[in-house]
Amino acid sequence: LSSEAEAVLDRIEEEDVDFLRLQFTDILGTVKNVSVPADQTEKAFREGIYFDGSSINGFVRIQESDMRLEPDPNTFALLPWRNNGDVTSARLICDVIDTTTGEPFSGDPRRVLKNAIDRAHEMGYKVNAGPEPEFFLFEEDEEGRATTTTHDKGGYFDMAPKDLAQDVRGDIIYGLDEMGFEVEASHHEVAEGQHEIDFKYEDALTTADNIATFRVAVRALAAEHDLHATFMPKPIPRINGSGMHTHLSLFTEDGDNVFHDDDDEFNLSETAKQFLAGILEHAPALAAVTNPTVNSYKRLVPGYEAPVYVAWSDVNRSALIRKPAARVPAASRIEARFPDPSCNPYLAVAALIQAGLDGIENDLDCPEPVRENIYEFDEQKREEYGIETLPSNLGEAVEALESDEVVMDALGSHVAEKFVEAKTQEFEDYLVDVSQWELDRYLETF
Ligand code: GLN
Ligand code: MG
Ligand code: MG
Ligand code: MG
Repeated sequence: LSSEAEAVLDRIEEEDVDFLRLQFTDILGTVKNVSVPADQTEKAFREGIYFDGSSINGFVRIQESDMRLEPDPNTFALLPWRNNGDVTSARLICDVIDTTTGEPFSGDPRRVLKNAIDRAHEMGYKVNAGPEPEFFLFEEDEEGRATTTTHDKGGYFDMAPKDLAQDVRGDIIYGLDEMGFEVEASHHEVAEGQHEIDFKYEDALTTADNIATFRVAVRALAAEHDLHATFMPKPIPRINGSGMHTHLSLFTEDGDNVFHDDDDEFNLSETAKQFLAGILEHAPALAAVTNPTVNSYKRLVPGYEAPVYVAWSDVNRSALIRKPAARVPAASRIEARFPDPSCNPYLAVAALIQAGLDGIENDLDCPEPVRENIYEFDEQKREEYGIETLPSNLGEAVEALESDEVVMDALGSHVAEKFVEAKTQEFEDYLVDVSQWELDRYLETF
């Protein structure tokens, strides 16, 4: 066993862990896990755990369904929420291996991200990523089902007593802390019942693992207060939705920030600008991955601090990408403001990285930043500035994805095919549905 694996066995002993959950993610971003008694951990490290991949969304066809989970010993965490009374559980995040070939399974989203990281590495870069996930806390009804009744009436950076959720948020942060998260900031967001918790940036793989874990953890910890936490992008119309701004930067293997340039007006290096240009260039296709639900496009409308137009800025927040002020060179980075927390974090981060690297490889020109409020531009002014818009619904986004080779390749053929198929179905299902809005508007009128 590796020394990391030995360290996990020690922790399991020390913490008296009863069950180990082996965690992985399906193509749609849902976290799955297989639970084994803790005394099976050593075996899991040596031989892996076999499971039937045919029942996992988008994994494999029935006739070739044997998969193996290979736990990554660097991902050990205790699960701090009261799951089963006195039972102590821990988890390890796993890579998925195709047992017919013995190779990493190309349908494993974590593998897709590793491919992007490997490509960056070949170009001499290490990728760092830091997310700002937003979410709502809603009350549950008598049967324990989620409602859209907000838990408090607070607003941006409000303090108690209006911010009733402060205790809840405190408990959530305490739980995250126990799991090894380094929470940097948390605050009440703009909308009623809306919150944000930011944790420290890490290498891209750790960050994607963290996001996957974060959503499960926040929901479980909120449930202990009989609240439902949701990462649905726009649960309530006509107020702010929930985004997941994603900060990105490239470092050399020696730890220098490739994105920083002292002499540049924006402190952005040529490489950073090319990376940024790559994301702008592929934004419509990226949206299918970073904003993958029907509901995602209800957030991407003017007026609610979410981007709609494909532009970048160093000052305003209506742009797709912002260059945040950085106090030290190491902190120079770009902030992609369009992703939302319903995305599969592995696929979203992978696609962003690959689009950015494409920009570097092809020396893409970075447009000038837009310093005005783009929400207020009319079509003519947008044309004058050469500003495109993001897809206005999931159907358009999937079409953009299908015609963008770079983003399709970023996903790899297996994931791309299954993803497009699932999302096309999701959109078609939505199109034939009749919404509450239609009933309210037409039922008694006609
Ligand atoms: N909630 C906004 C969004 O949808 C962001 C608000 C903010 O963080 N300033 O992206
Ligand atoms: Mg923030
Ligand atoms: Mg925010
Ligand atoms: Mg932000």
